[in-house]
Amino acid sequence: MAIELTDDGTLDTVLRCSECGEEMRYTFTEVGLADDEPNAQKAYDVWVKGCLEDAAADHECTADEDSEPTEPQEGDITTSDDRHFYMHGKLCLELIEGHSSGEYWRAHKGHMSRGATWIDLGRFASVEQAIKAYMVLENYFPNAWTISDHGNAHLMDLTEGGK
Ligand SMILES: [Zn+2]
Repeated sequence: MAIELTDDGTLDTVLRCSECGEEMRYTFTEVGLADDEPNAQKAYDVWVKGCLEDAAADHECTADEDSEPTEPQEGDITTSDDRHFYMHGKLCLELIEGHSSGEYWRAHKGHMSRGATWIDLGRFASVEQAIKAYMVLENYFPNAWTISDHGNAHLMDLTEGGK
């Protein structure tokens, strides 16, 4: 990521990320310094330097390959209730309740293959653990998302000790 100073012909100070092209606009509001004041240019330079530092710290570069995705990709796992999980538009993992032996997770082994079959995956202390166990079973590790009532996707934290 590289933030650089550009000029769009307005009085605004425009900084631009050279990688994703996003522009960040700042307006110099230092009062009491006339343009011909010897210190004015210096004050402006110091201010621009601060803007560059702020922009570099705040900018979330969309060109950054390591940045987290913001919505599910094809092949990711999604749920809207933490009980039914879908992959490629088909149920792949679900929490079965009301069973005589208590609740347990049922997994669609070989999800997209011809010989796919439902198996009992077992019981887990958390939803995240069940998803991780399913990924191990499938030897496939996509991102998992919770879709809110409003349709917003939130990436689930599947790291060690995830909630
Ligand atoms: Zn950028």
